[in-house]
Amino acid sequence: MTNPLGLYIHIPFCERKCNYCDFYSAFYSKKTLDVYLSALKGEIKKWGGNIHRPIDTIYIGGGTPSLLGEEIVSLLDCIKENFTVLNNAEITVEANPSSSGDFLSFAKAAGVNRLSIGVQSGCDDTLKILGRTHTADDAAQTVKMARGKGFDNISVDLMLALPDSNLQTLKSDIDFMLSLNPEHISAYILKIEQNTVFSKKYDSLNLPDDDEAAEQYLFMCEALQKNGYNHYEISNFAKGDNQSRHNMKYWIGDDYLGIGPAAHSCLDGKRFYYPRDLQGFIKNPQTVPDGEGGSAAERLMLGLRLSQGVDLSQIYGEIPEDIKKKINLLEKAGYIKANLPHISLTNSGMLISNSIITELLENENF
Ligand code: SF4
Repeated sequence: MTNPLGLYIHIPFCERKCNYCDFYSAFYSKKTLDVYLSALKGEIKKWGGNIHRPIDTIYIGGGTPSLLGEEIVSLLDCIKENFTVLNNAEITVEANPSSSGDFLSFAKAAGVNRLSIGVQSGCDDTLKILGRTHTADDAAQTVKMARGKGFDNISVDLMLALPDSNLQTLKSDIDFMLSLNPEHISAYILKIEQNTVFSKKYDSLNLPDDDEAAEQYLFMCEALQKNGYNHYEISNFAKGDNQSRHNMKYWIGDDYLGIGPAAHSCLDGKRFYYPRDLQGFIKNPQTVPDGEGGSAAERLMLGLRLSQGVDLSQIYGEIPEDIKKKINLLEKAGYIKANLPHISLTNSGMLISNSIITELLENENF
């Protein structure tokens, strides 16, 4: 198979743990990073020798990949030496909003052409509550510096339903994001994950309830759409054709390879992952099988995340009558846009996508 592949590289280090975060990361030290990079490059070499498919997207995520400093150059060189990276490949790196100009220069020199910056909020008090190490001004300066280095494809993260938030605070966060004029915005409703600082002090967090969180999501969708951002996926908005090509692979069921602890892959119909174990990866990197990829239920679930929706006939062939009835009811309730066999979710539908998908999958024949 020669279809291009997406490549994800995990950099599992952070300077401190944010209060809401359950991504896999360890505390940063230059020494451990160097040892890790050597193991990582070994795995890149191994996979490069086994996979003879070109790479058209690379995503370096974390953790905090901007802690790589000038090592970003040797890491991308290693990928290019061991894989055929297409000339027009999208190469994204997640950057901390207080990234130095040096890192941005190294990233540019290494061939990175897309930055994803974890801005989260434009309010310093909120950033402190979240446990972020940067201020809103740091984020604005980083975006400005990145523009100065020639980056013309920048994504920023925005978080919704934060402690003490309401439509007013959200509006000012959105205005802040818009003032940065990014090509892409990823917007997530805060979820309290187990074993995070927030989960331990849940009762003292003044969080919006579900209705208020839903109101914030719909408000955000409308505000970003009004400002020229196309709502192309539940949590993602892009100007023009600046959708994340790498993340699109996850949603349309294309193959991708992830390298690093906690990185997942879907390759030739098989899913597998590396365990969340930095030392294990350094000593003896091994993947764990995770079943088959590409089932009909999975294609429906992932496809409905996209505003372009899905063609049910391509997934299931004939659509059973009782499913048509359910679709009709969901359409009347304002959750689905249907032009059978094609369906997609409205903004309100995206908010409750899991329930809608469960409802559709409840039918045994479907
Ligand atoms: S949110 Fe990002 S920077 Fe914060 S701890 Fe998690 S991975 Fe690290």
